Amino acid sequence: MKTLIKEIDINKPDQDLISLFANMLADGKTVIFPTETVYGLGANALDEDAATKIYQAKGRPSDNPLLVHVADKEDVYDLVENVDDRAKLLMDKFWPGPLTIVFKKKAIIPDRTSGGLDTVAIRMPSDQVARDLIRRAGVPIAAPSANISGRPSPTKPEHIIRDMDGRVDGILVGGPCNYGVESTIVDLSDDIAMVLRPGSVTLEMLREVLGQVDLDPSLKNKDDNVKAKAPGMKYKHYSPQAQVYIVKADDLEGFAERVDSLCEDNAKKGLKIGVMTMNYDQHSYQAKVFDLGGSYTEVAKNLFDSLISLDRESIDIAYVPYFEERGIGVAIMNRLKKAAAYRII
Ligand code: AMP
Ligand code: MG
Repeated sequence: MKTLIKEIDINKPDQDLISLFANMLADGKTVIFPTETVYGLGANALDEDAATKIYQAKGRPSDNPLLVHVADKEDVYDLVENVDDRAKLLMDKFWPGPLTIVFKKKAIIPDRTSGGLDTVAIRMPSDQVARDLIRRAGVPIAAPSANISGRPSPTKPEHIIRDMDGRVDGILVGGPCNYGVESTIVDLSDDIAMVLRPGSVTLEMLREVLGQVDLDPSLKNKDDNVKAKAPGMKYKHYSPQAQVYIVKADDLEGFAERVDSLCEDNAKKGLKIGVMTMNYDQHSYQAKVFDLGGSYTEVAKNLFDSLISLDRESIDIAYVPYFEERGIGVAIMNRLKKAAAYRII
């Protein structure tokens, strides 16, 4: 498949370019576009054949539903059975932005989009290019992360072009993504709101608006007996070729000490070692260092790029700290544990 690739200035989007790609979406084609979380692989959410193309391009299991993106809050009412008071509060506070809400779906959402569920997960992105594109297309856009299934989500243009050129009809190239982890998913189908996937809208932020909010129990450990409520959370995810290990320590100095001795052992075996860490300039490692930045917000933003870079540098084994699981640290550790296949040492 020939992929049309065009660059767009995210601060001053060229509206002719937006129209070109919006028309492709309206015609049932697939287009990758930037959002504030990660790049999305979009198609008309109301068109079964278009949605099928997303699964094909990603190699995604067919029971893993797609996220649906809308340009305006009002668009939700055509797609879902009921927008209750809690949903309205969340939409007022966090939309546009990185929060996805699970609603009971109307019949207009095809089973292909909802993965056979009677619910649909919807968000309104804050990225202007994304919203202009959806509004011009005139239909809600199903858009999961634009990675091959199982691999880290793409946050930079080079990630997508390498993996997706030839697999989709169009790629609209913007800048790097602001948040770098995918949206928080919250399910309101029970009395107590439940976070199915942690993200940049944190549990603490949701509790401020709704009171009690729980984390899906399947996220708290790797217990296969507890079924994840977001189907996608049960699959292999974010996996680089390198073996990633999460190293527990009291602080970053303790981490450096442990990693130094691990590096020594592994260097003897001839393995190429990577270290993903914060504030790395304060310690010199006998390994290739992938700097995650100076704050948890930066770690979230840089995380997928660092995981993808491990493979580019042919790293065999990589070490990363166990970040504190509060605020955005919950989302960071959720992605890291999967990337590390739960190897915590
Ligand atoms: P992605 O955008 O690739 O990160 O994938 C979307 C995520 O949303 C996956 O983990 C899906 O399983 C989840 N998801 C989509 N629709 C629903 C839904 N109706 N209920 C629960 N989770 C959903
Ligand atoms: Mg994904």
